[in-house]
Amino acid sequence: MSRLVLVLGDQLSPELAGLQAADRAADIVVMAEVAEEASYVGHHPKKIAFIFASMRKFAASLRAAGWQVAYSEFDDSENSGSIAGELLRRADQYEASDVVVTEPGEWRLIEALRDVPLKVEMLEDDRFLASHAEFERWAEGRKALRMEYFYREMRRKTGLLMDGDNPAEGKWNFDHENRKPAPDEVSFGGPMQFTPDEVVQEVLDLVEARFGDNFGDLRPFWFATDRSQARRALSKFIREALPKFGDFQDAMLMENRFLYHAVISMYLNAGLLTVMEICEAAQDAWQAGDVPINAAEGFIRQIIGWREYVRGIYFLEGPDYTRRNALTHDRDLPWLYWGGETKMQCMARAVEQTREEAYAHHIQRLMVTGNFALLAGIDPAQVHEWYLAVYADAFEWVEAPNTIGMSQYADGGIIASKPYVSSGAYINRMSNYCKSCAYSVTTKTGEGACPFNLLYWHFLDRHRDRFEGNARMGNMYRTWDRMDAERRKTVLSDAQAWLARMEAGEVV
Ligand SMILES: Cc1cc2nc3c(=O)[nH]c(=O)nc-3n(C[C@H](O)[C@H](O)[C@H](O)COP(=O)(O)OP(=O)(O)OC[C@H]3O[C@@H](n4cnc5c(N)ncnc54)[C@H](O)[C@@H]3O)c2cc1C
Ligand code: SF4
Repeated sequence: MSRLVLVLGDQLSPELAGLQAADRAADIVVMAEVAEEASYVGHHPKKIAFIFASMRKFAASLRAAGWQVAYSEFDDSENSGSIAGELLRRADQYEASDVVVTEPGEWRLIEALRDVPLKVEMLEDDRFLASHAEFERWAEGRKALRMEYFYREMRRKTGLLMDGDNPAEGKWNFDHENRKPAPDEVSFGGPMQFTPDEVVQEVLDLVEARFGDNFGDLRPFWFATDRSQARRALSKFIREALPKFGDFQDAMLMENRFLYHAVISMYLNAGLLTVMEICEAAQDAWQAGDVPINAAEGFIRQIIGWREYVRGIYFLEGPDYTRRNALTHDRDLPWLYWGGETKMQCMARAVEQTREEAYAHHIQRLMVTGNFALLAGIDPAQVHEWYLAVYADAFEWVEAPNTIGMSQYADGGIIASKPYVSSGAYINRMSNYCKSCAYSVTTKTGEGACPFNLLYWHFLDRHRDRFEGNARMGNMYRTWDRMDAERRKTVLSDAQAWLARMEAGEVV
């Protein structure tokens, strides 16, 4: 009797555990574009188009390789609208009762699949370097789960950038050579862009008709939507941008949205690229002398370090992680996150680029939109929902720990040893946003003062009990305490007034 083999929209890899365990001659691959997955948050239209188009092409490649694929297009009249519903429908159609699934990257879907009244076998997703058991073993008994130590384990495990038992060029981490301010000119012309073919065009028309009202511009659409395109995009990055990746990793520029970033997270997360092919390509470029160690190491760390580590935390912490709110922040997400007018140049540009590209790089997410939400005390659940919706690479296992943990400190410090907050000075140092902003980054109070300056002290003051004793934050509190009392009072009342204007819907 045939079994059903479920392949989800972010499982588009021939080496997927479910496919490896299946019998190509007898089993039926089930793939489905369903309303429930496409609308449980208001996903960016580019993200939906990317996933649907990549799914259609992956299904075609499976058929060409001899698989029988039962594929439900979004508009099929019999499409039940949910993954569970489609499994039941196909079970009926093929008289199957056994289902093989590869574990989804979201508790919501794991729980939904456990409730399906069929015999569901759930296999661990082994496209990641660290299994759940391995991460749990690493985490057990540790007082603090710091990424750096986990990362070293992954270096040893993979042998990437290793010289026997030692790290290549003598150090595990070359970050002190990275993080230079924004350069005057960027030599990288940006990620490889692909002209939509017939399959993509058809999906774009569908998404326009069904999700045209969601936040985000569908066109121009230029993402890769199959493995061979994604590989070409990766090669271009390795050749043209990786050498400077480390140096300018944290910089932001008005005129350049991508700087030296890879823009491959959506491909990797959907399964079009593998962790090892990306990291080996970076290592090869370093070995060939084309890329300095600080760039190769910094880049590989993001993937085998941060990416694997945040996934470990998501599964370790369990289904309630997205509801954590350690700082009890409860302000509603302001309209400016959805494109409402704002005078803050940094926020306006980060949101504009998010709307147009479904992409912003890490520092824009962490130190602009994330920093602002944290300083302003926005409800982390709403912040989480926003990040999950607006980025093409957003899947809960990776988005939630980055948002709830790293960016909003809502998990109480599991991921971040201190909150990622900064005044306008950091944004000014790393970008050219402030030069053309209506606010003045050097003004600390009164008319025209940069809101990040006001809110920074407001944040530290209102969370003094929690952070005063944090060794990494002592300097900040000492600086605050050195200000004269009258000035401190003015900063706090200006911040309060500014927040009140934002809440009242004024353009701030
Ligand atoms: C609030 C917030 C939300 C985020 N949400 C997501 C998300 O939904 N999906 C997602 O893939 N990343 C997320 N990130 C991490 C990071 O911002 C993106 O992976 C990165 O910007 C993707 O762009 P890139 O491919 O150009 O990355 P590059 O800067 O070129 O880095 C290379 C690769 O490293 C990996 N990587 C880098 N940093 C991280 C990280 N912190 N966590 C996991 N992987 C990382 C990505 O796979 C990325 O493609 C988030 C970060 C923050 C602060
Ligand atoms: S002055 Fe402040 S609000 Fe304006 S761009 Fe700079 S940091 Fe952002």
